[in-house]
Amino acid sequence: MFLEQFPEEGKSHGWLEVVCGSMFSGKTEELIRRLRRAEFANQSFLLFKPKLDNRYSDDQIISHAGDQFDAINIENPAQILTYWTEQKVVAIDEVQFFDTTILGVVSELASKGVRVICAGLDMDYKGKPFGPVPYLMAAAEYITKVHAICVSCGNLAQFSHRTVKEDSQVLLGAVEKYKPLCRNCFNKIEH
Ligand code: ZN
Repeated sequence: MFLEQFPEEGKSHGWLEVVCGSMFSGKTEELIRRLRRAEFANQSFLLFKPKLDNRYSDDQIISHAGDQFDAINIENPAQILTYWTEQKVVAIDEVQFFDTTILGVVSELASKGVRVICAGLDMDYKGKPFGPVPYLMAAAEYITKVHAICVSCGNLAQFSHRTVKEDSQVLLGAVEKYKPLCRNCFNKIEH
């Protein structure tokens, strides 16, 4: 259903897409789907992810269904520009873990004609906007918000509720410590 959302796809000027949502919403699956399409079209691409995320593997992104792409691990957004050599598409997964300097980097690439696809959590476990994602959403031509299913009631879920007591915003390697909740069910829980 997202296929016709990008009328400029294939044209020469660049733009920014954001794929956002809660945990278990299929963000990485959607990013992989878009990269797979670019690959079929013989469009060159680069895929980045933050170095701190090593849930599955150091140099790949892998969907829950097992589909995967090689990714370059970087510590800060400026490194993206040092790797870029005219690739048509630049994708960044787990973009919420970067600082707001990512905005300047992706804007520069889009201005140079690159299709930039950012995927990440739009809210942290408290339901607050996460890192640079709200800024990227503001600057993007296209935003796709994907949803999980609320484990309590079955409605569409947009919150990533943390089921353990741990106050840091980033809790790595702990997917099982979250569950997706809808607004009603999230509001019933003390934060
Ligand atoms: Zn619910």
